[in-house]
Amino acid sequence: MTETAYDVIVVGGGNAALCAALSAREQGANVVVIERAPEQQRGGNTAYTGGGFRMVHDGVETVKTVVPDLSEGEIENTDFGQYTAEEYLDDLGRATQWHCDPDLAETVVRRSTDTVQWLHGRGVKFVPRFGRYAFKHEGKFKFFGGTVVEATGGGRGLVEAEYKAAKQHGIDVLYGTQAISLLRSRGGVGGVRVLRNGEEQDIRAVAVVLAAGGFQANREWRTRYLGPGWDMAKVRGTRYNTGDGIRMALDMGAQPYGHWSGCHSVSWERYAPDFGELDRPITASRNGYPFGIMVNAHGKRFVDEGADFRNYTYAKYGRIVLEQPGSYAWHVFDSQVDHLLHDEYRSKGTTKVQATTLEELVARMEDVEPGAFLDTVRQYNAAIKRDVPFNPNIKDGRGTTGLAINKSNWANALEKPPYVAYAVTCGITFTFGGLKIDTTAQVLDMADQPIGGLYAAGELVGGLFYFNYPGSSGLMAGSVFGRIAGHGAATYATSKKAAVATS
Ligand SMILES: Cc1cc2nc3c(=O)[nH]c(=O)nc-3n(C[C@H](O)[C@H](O)[C@H](O)COP(=O)(O)OP(=O)(O)OC[C@H]3O[C@@H](n4cnc5c(N)ncnc54)[C@H](O)[C@@H]3O)c2cc1C
Repeated sequence: MTETAYDVIVVGGGNAALCAALSAREQGANVVVIERAPEQQRGGNTAYTGGGFRMVHDGVETVKTVVPDLSEGEIENTDFGQYTAEEYLDDLGRATQWHCDPDLAETVVRRSTDTVQWLHGRGVKFVPRFGRYAFKHEGKFKFFGGTVVEATGGGRGLVEAEYKAAKQHGIDVLYGTQAISLLRSRGGVGGVRVLRNGEEQDIRAVAVVLAAGGFQANREWRTRYLGPGWDMAKVRGTRYNTGDGIRMALDMGAQPYGHWSGCHSVSWERYAPDFGELDRPITASRNGYPFGIMVNAHGKRFVDEGADFRNYTYAKYGRIVLEQPGSYAWHVFDSQVDHLLHDEYRSKGTTKVQATTLEELVARMEDVEPGAFLDTVRQYNAAIKRDVPFNPNIKDGRGTTGLAINKSNWANALEKPPYVAYAVTCGITFTFGGLKIDTTAQVLDMADQPIGGLYAAGELVGGLFYFNYPGSSGLMAGSVFGRIAGHGAATYATSKKAAVATS
């Protein structure tokens, strides 16, 4: 068994890991990144993202600090609004039913803007999130829901920029290398045992940052922790996040924390492949439901599609789709809202049916009770508050009254053909349960004491998200805690080495 040594090992090759590696290197540490995936598939779930970051901002002035080439026209025709720390904390609180760890939440929120600026300073370029988080209304884009920027080139652009920065800063990367356990040393961690080219190797280090993602790609753990039925969910992102980082830390006495039976999951193309495909990262998403209705096999609506902006509901509605008979549903729209549906509804491999009458439509919707569906649409159309104007940029209050499940906003009658319906199932994004860390990103044991030299960031951290998730908080949380973890690990390594030298 061969051995090499570093100051800091970062386990994982996504956003949280790269932020940790860059931050540790800035402190002068000798750093290696261990990425399980081969180089062509590097970047974990991060590579599959839209690259959106949720940060505190004051509108155009903050946006300009990370999008310096914003044009005069864009400034004039855009209302970025503003997003205060209090609003961000409130969104995290509301989405998680007030379970989120207040110290971790506060850290993410207070360090969000500065961390996006830090990434920008390391070569990550950003653009405004037009389209997804701002619809053009009366000639002007108006942002809603807190997220105003995304990395140029989405998740892949983000990953490319981060690896480029890692190379420039002399960080080693080992691809196709799976961390399998932590090595101990006196007072804490002492390195990582890896599997590389079919052989076990020990890599020694003074500190280790775990950033190896959640366990959503592990069918067996999904069923064990999320519950029956979850073995059948589609994985939206990487196949490599199977909970290794979490298991390795638990084996060393780390404390499990957060919502272990919870996850981020969405409406997803019913016949999508079992795992994400890097070349088609978001084309299986189906997030237009606030402007239509969702029905199940019984032809019934089962959720308030317009309860909130889609980025406050999409992450919890996947579970509700999974719970429907057969774990599928249909999104149904008419021609009035077609222009509001994102390109993903028009992508190759979409299960779509279209017709000029509702009767024809339901005849083409596989496995749906036709009579019940027609009753559902009739009752829904009759219950709409038609005197309230439709506006996709605000919670317009154009809802329904008197239904068993009312729709709160954006209720358009299904009455203008052609009608379209899209088949969806549940796509899991990432799991919420993970390791307990403190605000310095140190992994805590069962007595809430830090395990010497062990840090964690990203999706394998528990305690931030429960039940639901405000869109674009994942990259932000991973960046904030990755940066903190890298700094902490490098500082720990320096002081440990100094102590050894003087002893
Ligand atoms: C389709 C999709 C769209 C999304 N869009 C957004 C968005 O726009 N904004 C947002 O904030 N969030 C988004 N998310 C959520 C987002 O992906 C995550 O919050 C974030 O990217 C997680 O970063 P991470 O570094 O923690 O994990 P990852 O990026 O998944 O990185 C984990 C890494 O660990 C590696 N790994 C796993 N096991 C091992 C092992 N044993 N040894 C070595 N390496 C290992 C993996 O190969 C991977 O490189 C999206 C997710 C998906 C799937």
